Amino acid sequence: MKLICIGRNYTDHIEELENEKPVDPVVFLKPDTSILLKKQPFFIPDFSNNIHHEVEVLVKIKKLGKYIDRKFAHKYYDEIGLGIDFTARDLQSQLKEKGLPWEKAKAFDGAAVLGKWVSKEEFLDVNDINFRLEKNEEIVQQGNTKLMLWKIDELIEYVSQFFTLKIGDIIFTGTPAGVGQVKTNDVLTGFIEGQKMFSIKVK
Ligand code: ZN
Repeated sequence: MKLICIGRNYTDHIEELENEKPVDPVVFLKPDTSILLKKQPFFIPDFSNNIHHEVEVLVKIKKLGKYIDRKFAHKYYDEIGLGIDFTARDLQSQLKEKGLPWEKAKAFDGAAVLGKWVSKEEFLDVNDINFRLEKNEEIVQQGNTKLMLWKIDELIEYVSQFFTLKIGDIIFTGTPAGVGQVKTNDVLTGFIEGQKMFSIKVK
């Protein structure tokens, strides 16, 4: 399975990193080895001095598809989740400057946190889901899926032009503002509409 990640999907986060607003969604992949194993802490890797948390709404693909029209995209997922796209911001900045791919900064072991999954039927509208990340019980990021530049169904249409979507693939839909550095002993807890989705300790 693969993790398909979207960058720059919330205007406020684009502004905080002083990035240009994209014409098309920014897309990158993480391999399955980047998934943080259940109940494991996140270990800050030796190659970075600035690991950032990026909380993101996740979509789990339940049906094989290619060239999916946005009108039918809702048939390709039943479950919504919340996760973290851990990013070695120092390394990513160096790579960006040189125009190089981001994988070393984004796809390393443990860089993808997957929380629990809930049925999309639990939400009145998947384009109006509130979510937040707390660091040591203080809110650091909050967002609502209505603020995405590209909504879930549009993302499925877009990415499926390039990649066949397989059962179990996961889409990371981008992060809102408030990304920041994690330090040893931090506890990161993610919520969707008040429901706890994950809690991760940083080591
Ligand atoms: Zn991200």
